[in-house]
Amino acid sequence: MNFRDNPEEAVFRQEVREFIAHEYAGDGEGEARGAAQAAAQGGPEAMARYQAWMKKLAKKGWIAAAWPKEYGGAGMTIMQQFIFNEELALARAPRPGGIGIAMAGPTIIVYGTEEQKKEHLSGMLSSDVIWCQGFSEPESGSDLASLRTSAVKDGDDYVINGQKIWTTGAQFAHRMILLARTDPQAPKHKGISYFLLDMKSPGVSVRPLVNMAGTPGFNEVFFDNVRIPKNDLLGEENRGWYVGTTTLDFERSSIGTSIAQTNAVEDLLVWVKDRRGAVQPTVRLELAERAIEAEAARLMSYRVISMQNRGMVPNHESSAVKIYAAELNQRITGTAMKVAGLFGQLNWTSKAADGSAVQRWTPNRGRFVRGYLGAVASTIAGGTSEINRNIIATRGLGLPRD
Ligand SMILES: Cc1cc2nc3c(=O)[nH]c(=O)nc-3n(C[C@H](O)[C@H](O)[C@H](O)COP(=O)(O)OP(=O)(O)OC[C@H]3O[C@@H](n4cnc5c(N)ncnc54)[C@H](O)[C@@H]3O)c2cc1C
Repeated sequence: MNFRDNPEEAVFRQEVREFIAHEYAGDGEGEARGAAQAAAQGGPEAMARYQAWMKKLAKKGWIAAAWPKEYGGAGMTIMQQFIFNEELALARAPRPGGIGIAMAGPTIIVYGTEEQKKEHLSGMLSSDVIWCQGFSEPESGSDLASLRTSAVKDGDDYVINGQKIWTTGAQFAHRMILLARTDPQAPKHKGISYFLLDMKSPGVSVRPLVNMAGTPGFNEVFFDNVRIPKNDLLGEENRGWYVGTTTLDFERSSIGTSIAQTNAVEDLLVWVKDRRGAVQPTVRLELAERAIEAEAARLMSYRVISMQNRGMVPNHESSAVKIYAAELNQRITGTAMKVAGLFGQLNWTSKAADGSAVQRWTPNRGRFVRGYLGAVASTIAGGTSEINRNIIATRGLGLPRD
């Protein structure tokens, strides 16, 4: 990895930096990716702020960094995408993404008919149509190919019955990328199809799930004889598994996450420095470790991006970054809770026994406890640490499967 930008990259970095400086009125909500996630984390106001920033990026043509220009994307090279994401993360500005831009759109570009491209891509680019991902089911998460939601052909429609779970943002979404089983007799990877479901279809019901941080981020989604027109099948019937894996091949750089972690450590240091007397000296060592680890995470992301830049496909290397970043997230938020002491448990909306508000006692507006509880999910979402360790063991170290 060459850590220095070449002349063209330096010019592009400057352009991104200046655009952010002029256009982004920072409010530190840079973690959210996608309108649904912003809304789930911060409510309708956060969603409106996110949408306004996305409109500015859209006007500049930067909403879909990885999409080809002919489909309204920015057509950025791998290094440009990296610089773009890095600069947004450094400025703590939300990065465009979400299920529509990062997953559904690129998959439609590869597998969609001209009609499907025309119907769906512009709504993603304008941020007006929000997408969710209906892959996981109660008995099918890591072993996704065992999914049981059924799609039975009936005239010009498919009739869907079954249930999805952990569907982030389904309560706000207009459309869902949905995997359902069209051939129950076929081997499990070969009987699945990929649909673009209209969430307003009769028979779709969404039941929010509140996580232990008190955030209604994800949902259960039920399908009761839902009819999907055959035009909303993406790719070939029974080839949905392969369409689904394509979905995951776009915009994989984790540089934003590692910079967000460096930012989190920096925020913690500022908080500690403001309260010198109140913080245990032993915590210093822990803070130093977190700062070093955040730097290590950044360098690991550089490794993945430099492989991509050379046309290689990172595999177990991406799994190593995912595990390290997810576990580091838990360590950073754990350190924050330790630093904040008992008061760290207070949330912004907590109440004392007599019902009075406790906000004046709540450190960092309750962000520490929210981050700590929210970080539990980081070793589960997007592939669990155990599954990623399996990948490192078999594909990285060449160990036998059984
Ligand atoms: C915050 C969050 C948001 C999510 N959003 C979405 C979404 O929008 N759409 C969507 O479709 N899904 C979503 N998910 C679901 C996510 O993809 C699954 O939780 C994940 O794939 C794990 O599946 P599972 O929960 O069924 O756990 P399981 O697969 O049942 O795993 C349970 C435990 O067993 C372990 N395990 C399983 N198989 C193996 C194995 N072969 N070897 C070793 N250990 C194993 C796992 O590591 C885990 O510890 C989300 C999850 C979270 C936490």
